[in-house]
Amino acid sequence: MIKRRILIDGKEVESESGQTFKVFNPATLEAFEEVPKCTEGDVEKAVQSAKRASKAWADVPLLKKMELMYKAAEILDERAEDYARLITNEMGKTIQESRGETPYVSNHFRIFAEEAKRLRGQTFPNNYSEDNNLRIYVRREPIGVVAIIGPWNWPFDIPLLGAAAALGAGNSVVLKPSSITPGCGIEIAKVVRDAGFPDGTLNVLTGPGSTVGKALVGHPDVGAVGFTGSYEVGKKIVASAGVKKVVLELGDTGPIVVLEDANIDAAVDAAMFGVYHQAGQNCTSCERLIILQRVHEEFVEKLLDKVKKIKVGDPSKEETDMGPVASEEQAQIIDRHIKDAVDKGARLLAGGKRKDLFYEATVLDNVTQDMIIAREETFGPVATIIKVKNKEEALEIANSNPYGLQGAVFTSNLRDAIEMSEKMKFGAVIVNDTTNHWDQLSPFGGVKGSGVGRECSEFGIHEYTDIKKTVINIANVRM
Ligand code: NAD
Repeated sequence: MIKRRILIDGKEVESESGQTFKVFNPATLEAFEEVPKCTEGDVEKAVQSAKRASKAWADVPLLKKMELMYKAAEILDERAEDYARLITNEMGKTIQESRGETPYVSNHFRIFAEEAKRLRGQTFPNNYSEDNNLRIYVRREPIGVVAIIGPWNWPFDIPLLGAAAALGAGNSVVLKPSSITPGCGIEIAKVVRDAGFPDGTLNVLTGPGSTVGKALVGHPDVGAVGFTGSYEVGKKIVASAGVKKVVLELGDTGPIVVLEDANIDAAVDAAMFGVYHQAGQNCTSCERLIILQRVHEEFVEKLLDKVKKIKVGDPSKEETDMGPVASEEQAQIIDRHIKDAVDKGARLLAGGKRKDLFYEATVLDNVTQDMIIAREETFGPVATIIKVKNKEEALEIANSNPYGLQGAVFTSNLRDAIEMSEKMKFGAVIVNDTTNHWDQLSPFGGVKGSGVGRECSEFGIHEYTDIKKTVINIANVRM
């Protein structure tokens, strides 16, 4: 049993309560880690430490800050393989998928070190005084202490993305990782400590979201919150935060729309990656396949051919394509959505069953709008096929849900590509590729119920700054 401790003020400590909780490997269902169950007292200590550190960190010269961020990236790279194994043990994605996460997360530090150099201000004209003595400029300042609350599905990438943006902008951070992947959150804090950041620049707390996360988000000394997780918890974050800046990256039911003139082979490949990567546990997963009736049969046939070849099994083995889902709670949501769909007339063409947390790669055809699976996020390895008459109906269904993170459309017609991308209400529309698109260098985030704010690029660092306006009356300045 690995015994882990939280990090406050650069030191590894137990929770003040002395309590712990166990973490289970979803593939073996065995407990392998014990982690502190923090309290509101721990939240207070972590926030006060971060508050002190925010002053120390803001005073570090920019080039020195960048040096520390580059050092943190180097340390992460050195530990990438160990961290890939930790991810697989904690949340069950295959080792190949985990290795797809750890090598590039170090670039969050590098990218936001560079973005920090580009945090530029602006000057503004004066319209207030007739003597022309006022000079007005704005610049971006750090907010202070930023709380980052992370999900389990990308347990290094996502918390680190928010944390690196906040650090690059000159803030300190208190991180609360998911209780499914607390070890990953603790390791992020160790990387920052080992790189030589001032003590307390990034503290980490583990424990239930409903107590530790809630107290952290609502703490008066926390100036901003970066939250990634479900829509339901997102609403609670807004309620607890009160008047402070909140960045919300929430769920989705992202569609791939396949029009009649699409390259069907390419659309099937995009669907395979969109539906089954990480057993469907991506915010950008393809949750709905909206297929024009003329190409429906060909699409389904080609999809089924590939689905039959997916190897489900031990995620630590190199040859495994798909591991277990991360928790019993997650598996029960998938059970419920499949049952509801089949009860209401959907055709189960493949899969539909599970052994413990290992779900079969599943294909459901004839899905209609009255089924839960067509409207709510399933977060599982289920291809949900909705047959439509024409592109107008496809568009209506694509936009019908309260989410809007990423949608995709397949067509070879330029006019349709442009019109669909403009009419689909999503934070990003991908033409002729999968919904599971993500790039560190361009903005990422949703509209409607999928969230508020953007991550990555200059948009991501701007979220963690305040705009300060300074007005100088030069008549009263002694030269
Ligand atoms: P979740 O909402 O259950 O939990 C997310 C985090 O919030 C966890 O750390 C949890 O402990 C904490 N939390 C729970 N209740 C809280 C409260 N009352 N106050 C403060 N914190 C609280 O989500 P999850 O199951 O970890 O992740 C899966 C969800 O995340 C899916 O809906 C997925 O689509 C979404 N997601 C979105 C993105 C994105 O970028 N848009 C990325 C990954 C995952």
